[in-house]
Amino acid sequence: MNVKELLYEGKAKKVFITEQKDRYLIRYKDDATAFNGEKKGTIDGKGAINNTMSAYFFQLLESRGIESHFVEQVSPTEMIVKRVEIIPLEVIVRNIAAGSLSKRLGVAEGTSLKLPVVEFSYKSDELGDPLINDDHILALGLASEEEITILKKKALQINEILSEYLEQSGITLVDFKLEFGKLDNGDILLSDEISPDTCRFWDSTTKERMDKDRFRRDLGNIEEGYKKALERVLGGER
Ligand code: UDP
Repeated sequence: MNVKELLYEGKAKKVFITEQKDRYLIRYKDDATAFNGEKKGTIDGKGAINNTMSAYFFQLLESRGIESHFVEQVSPTEMIVKRVEIIPLEVIVRNIAAGSLSKRLGVAEGTSLKLPVVEFSYKSDELGDPLINDDHILALGLASEEEITILKKKALQINEILSEYLEQSGITLVDFKLEFGKLDNGDILLSDEISPDTCRFWDSTTKERMDKDRFRRDLGNIEEGYKKALERVLGGER
């Protein structure tokens, strides 16, 4: 598919307009940022790993009835997706306390939560993606009540499918962030990516981190962590 022009460049991906009106091409980059862009770096091979893992998960989810924007992986770092309008919400699902939840609520990292928690953040670089609740979303007109219900339901279904799959590969899905987009007809599709940049993957036995915390927290062996996560995902059951 011929690429026409760059539509948008984000921190980890570029989005291109294609000759086909209802398709975009996404190119995943090796650039890494954390703490709202304050920490910058490059992780060799990250673009290919995140693209390949996202493509794999989107197909797994599709086979389980969860539609996404994914159409086809066209190169190690590129995929074709359906054109959607991204809902400006980060939908975060947590199974185990970590990161900002641990900090905010004073719960030790690694503490199992009694039930999966769904959180929303307002996607805004300027504001640092603040946590918001259902009433804020309605008050700002970011999504309707019905859409909020759909987002929560889909996020929890995705959590069940991915957690179960990953556990068989020796990975505990601690938490993750999803983004959703809307087609012209209003249908809501899972969008963005599902990768070590957007999920916390812990080795089920050793609790070794195989995700972006290796970069955020200067844990070393960043590339190896990402590679190991992808190998486990593609390897399926151990
Ligand atoms: N996350 C993300 N993008 C963001 C914020 C969070 O992909 O802008 C992911 C993050 O990788 C983790 C989960 O969402 O898997 C929960 O992140 P948390 O709120 O703990 O924030 P962090 O510790 O990254 O500041």
